[in-house]
Amino acid sequence: MISLYFHIPFCTKKCPYCHFYVIPNRPAYQQLLSEALALEWRMQQPLMEGRPVTSIYFGGGTPSLFTEIGPLLTQIPRASDCEITIEANPEESSLELFSHFVQLGINRLSLGVQSLDDRSLQTLERIHTAERAKRAIFDAAKAGFKNISLDLMYDLPGQTEESWAFTLDQLRDLPIQHLSLYNLTIEPHTSFHKRKVQLPQPELSLQLLQTALERLASLGLNRYEISAFARPGFESRHNLGYWTGRPFLGFGPSAYSFWEGERFRNVANIHKYARALREGQSPVDFREKLPYPAHLKERLAVGLRVREGVNLATFPLDADTARVIEELKRNNLLAQRGTQLQLTERGMLYYDTVASEMI
Ligand code: SF4
Repeated sequence: MISLYFHIPFCTKKCPYCHFYVIPNRPAYQQLLSEALALEWRMQQPLMEGRPVTSIYFGGGTPSLFTEIGPLLTQIPRASDCEITIEANPEESSLELFSHFVQLGINRLSLGVQSLDDRSLQTLERIHTAERAKRAIFDAAKAGFKNISLDLMYDLPGQTEESWAFTLDQLRDLPIQHLSLYNLTIEPHTSFHKRKVQLPQPELSLQLLQTALERLASLGLNRYEISAFARPGFESRHNLGYWTGRPFLGFGPSAYSFWEGERFRNVANIHKYARALREGQSPVDFREKLPYPAHLKERLAVGLRVREGVNLATFPLDADTARVIEELKRNNLLAQRGTQLQLTERGMLYYDTVASEMI
């Protein structure tokens, strides 16, 4: 089984915290991307032969802005129960657009809501309001989406517990099945970074996370991965693939792939990406195949993100990693039952420490 990821880089406006490769939504870029994706699709055919596609993810950017999703999807042979996700932003959504996606066979929607408090949305300099976001969620349900996921962000500048609780409390009335929860990080080369925007202190940050964990549990959204919550049966198949090492191919500028133990990335520039493909060249500008034991350590650290953990019987551990695991167990960050190793509740809170110790 394999997964496919399509990076569609269009955005109406660049958010000040965004570190993804995004470009304005212009007809000329739409055309360029459409032609280049068709060439890349043809180039990668030999790799995919005989490998059933279990999930497809249109991410970005704002893939819902791409006018060629339909023609692209029709080319992809896939398992009948294939999970097909598209990301969308509330401000560019409508009942009509969502109905179109449902007709195309897209069965999962990921909405970039980020907050249901207008003050926080203004802090993030998002275009949409909380009301607009809620309307988009109800439109999606009305259009027939039975698997709707929201992205929410916390740890925002000036965010208080009350403002965060205000967002979380509104989830109760929404027809959602999945939620991805991110803390804001200030990445280099972003506008927030240049402006030296300050984030909440670690104590408040932990408190905000704990508030979210309590509220989401009370709504029946189970934490099945460090940052992902779902009603039973709605865990993201695509994302579980990333965390458990399923091979995936990425298409589009800046898209990553993981294939036969190698990670590679397409050039993050639509012109270079399209030119390479037009000339029959690979658009990949970065490749990495970690040697033993580094690749096992990385797989272990990523696999531990999932609540059920990893089966150590499938990891031929070196002495150094085995020693680190014992230390993390002593510190109540990891627990082992038989050969299954998983994060403790404390380990879920301090996953970054576990991962950095491991790698
Ligand atoms: S909408 Fe998403 S992808 Fe686009 S600029 Fe904002 S954060 Fe980045």
